[in-house]
Amino acid sequence: MPVEIAIIGRPNVGKSTLFNRLTGRRAALVDATPGLTRDRREGDAEIGRHAVRLIDTAGLEEAEAGSLSARMREQSEAAIAHADAVLFVMDARAGLTPVDERFAAPIRKSGKPVILVANKCEGRASDAGFYDAYALGLGEPVAISAEHGEGIGDLIAAIEAVCDQVAGEGELAPPGTDAASRPLRLAIVGRPNAGKSTLVNALLGEDRMITGPEAGITRDTIAVPLKWNEQDILLHDTAGLRRKSRIHERAEKLSASDAINAIRFAEVVVVLIDAEIPFEKQDLQIADLVVSEGRGLVIAVNKWDLVEEKQSRLAELRREVERLLPQVKGVPLVPVSASRGGGLDKLMQAVFGIYAMWNRRLPTAALNRWLEEALERHTPPAVTGKRIKLRYMTQPNARPPTFVVFCSRPEKLPEAYRRYLINGIRDSFDLPGVPLRLNLRKGKNPYADKEG
Ligand code: GDP
Repeated sequence: MPVEIAIIGRPNVGKSTLFNRLTGRRAALVDATPGLTRDRREGDAEIGRHAVRLIDTAGLEEAEAGSLSARMREQSEAAIAHADAVLFVMDARAGLTPVDERFAAPIRKSGKPVILVANKCEGRASDAGFYDAYALGLGEPVAISAEHGEGIGDLIAAIEAVCDQVAGEGELAPPGTDAASRPLRLAIVGRPNAGKSTLVNALLGEDRMITGPEAGITRDTIAVPLKWNEQDILLHDTAGLRRKSRIHERAEKLSASDAINAIRFAEVVVVLIDAEIPFEKQDLQIADLVVSEGRGLVIAVNKWDLVEEKQSRLAELRREVERLLPQVKGVPLVPVSASRGGGLDKLMQAVFGIYAMWNRRLPTAALNRWLEEALERHTPPAVTGKRIKLRYMTQPNARPPTFVVFCSRPEKLPEAYRRYLINGIRDSFDLPGVPLRLNLRKGKNPYADKEG
């Protein structure tokens, strides 16, 4: 089945030109019935190793420029709902308009993968509009000119990446599910004997436990559904976790590929450590990998029933984790006793808390007010006699929160200053324990001319 991608955008941004370019003008009018779908065009393209079906919602151009009839919106939303992914087109020469925003909102809500395209990027007049595109909150824009065929290589690469994502997740996130109703993807990783199986079984409950190695598990089962306080979860089945009797197969070490598979699958990863031997090198390596891969991290300390002086030990472990994992200040550390079922509610609260922050989007205006203050408090350093100017900031992506700062000489900004900014965002916007990304881009302030 081809990957279905809907091309969405307000009238006149260049959807049809792009559609024609990607499909080689082999487009056909597939439905001539008047009404909702009369203008829907479909066309096929080979992109990388994927067969892609592009859906153009053209013909909407009939509507008066600047107006947005209910029919247009309906058609656009229906196309989004049906598609596997969305290609959103904006006009970089015209900049961002409120109408763009109204077309973008249902895409964000759908939680579908998006390729953001800033079209008409030939020439200088489009610079400001290109930076504008970041503020849509649909990710990093790809600058193209559909008319002149510029940037199409980058666009194809972006489409290919999204197709890979769709192909990999198709089974778990069927088209039509929106972000809010999709289950949280959770993995529990840790060294052998930390108590992962015990914890998984405690979370699943006795009745759900699978006791024999064969009992109904197909080879390709990689996730088990689980409900916790009405919230849907898909729990990664790390290497036969649910099997009860697999003592003989126990490996000496956690296999790296198991951990990597789990991290790739999950949105939030619980790193389970043993209270009696906490923070071994391997635990820290896993935790570090979770963070560098941009996943939400929760540390659970198991076998808490064996710990004496629980209060002081907990405080000590929390201090230790701040020191050992400074890149995720405030990461939750939750004591549990998997075998007795203790602390499970607190653990899951921490998981959902991190998940919510991992999904957070901060408004561009608030970020720029914050940036101004941060720059005042600590002036960026001068390098070779010239001060580095940081001009504009926005959050193009959530999951994990990813920020872009436009500045004069990104390659020269010291790492310490970048850390200062990240820690500042974390504190000011209350995002403890989530991985945050901050990318520096060379660029002018898109609103420079408005400032005079
Ligand atoms: P896995 O290798 O990480 O899956 O670890 P298992 O779940 O097989 O547990 C390893 C051992 O630790 C078993 O003997 C469990 O009974 C024991 N264990 C697991 N959780 C707890 C706990 O909360 N308290 C105590 N005291 N023992 C536990």
